[in-house]
Amino acid sequence: MITILDKTFVPFISRSNIESRIAEMAVQISKDYEGKSPLFIIVLNGAFLFASELLKNVSLPCQITFVRLASYQQTETTGQVRQIIGLEEQITGKDVVIVEDIVDTGLTMNQLLEQIQALQPASVEIATLLHKPEAIRKPVSMRYIGFEIENRFVVGYGLDYDGLGRNEDALYVLSE
Ligand code: 5GP
Repeated sequence: MITILDKTFVPFISRSNIESRIAEMAVQISKDYEGKSPLFIIVLNGAFLFASELLKNVSLPCQITFVRLASYQQTETTGQVRQIIGLEEQITGKDVVIVEDIVDTGLTMNQLLEQIQALQPASVEIATLLHKPEAIRKPVSMRYIGFEIENRFVVGYGLDYDGLGRNEDALYVLSE
């Protein structure tokens, strides 16, 4: 159990379960992109630990770049999707893999996908550590999903509560 500000979170997915699932995802990606050099676009801040674990296990020559965006305040989605910052890498003709911490309503990912597709990549796929199928408002096709989870607020392994908790090495869920 951990406490962050006024909230209590209970253990949800252990570090070893997260890391063995990420290793499986990396093997799959390495197989799917054999002979290619994909460009991984890491969505900060939440995906930093997932991306680091994933990419250590990807056995391909690849490019890595970072973008920032946010659509969340404390434990409630704000509905507003903010601007994407840092999409500078040459995208045209590249095989792009977007690396995200969690797809919740899907609004953020749809907006990011639209902007990347406008730059005419050869292909674009999504790798997300977590997905909440019940929360989806705008469907998005995700090729690599770590865990499908119920519609509850999670922290740790890169995900925050009000800016805190990203450094936890496992996932925790808000206690009911
Ligand atoms: P979407 O646009 O899909 O609703 O929101 C995606 C973003 O919302 C994620 O990148 C993440 O920052 C945030 N988010 C969604 N669900 C959770 C959650 O359970 N915990 C935390 N910490 N962030 C979440």
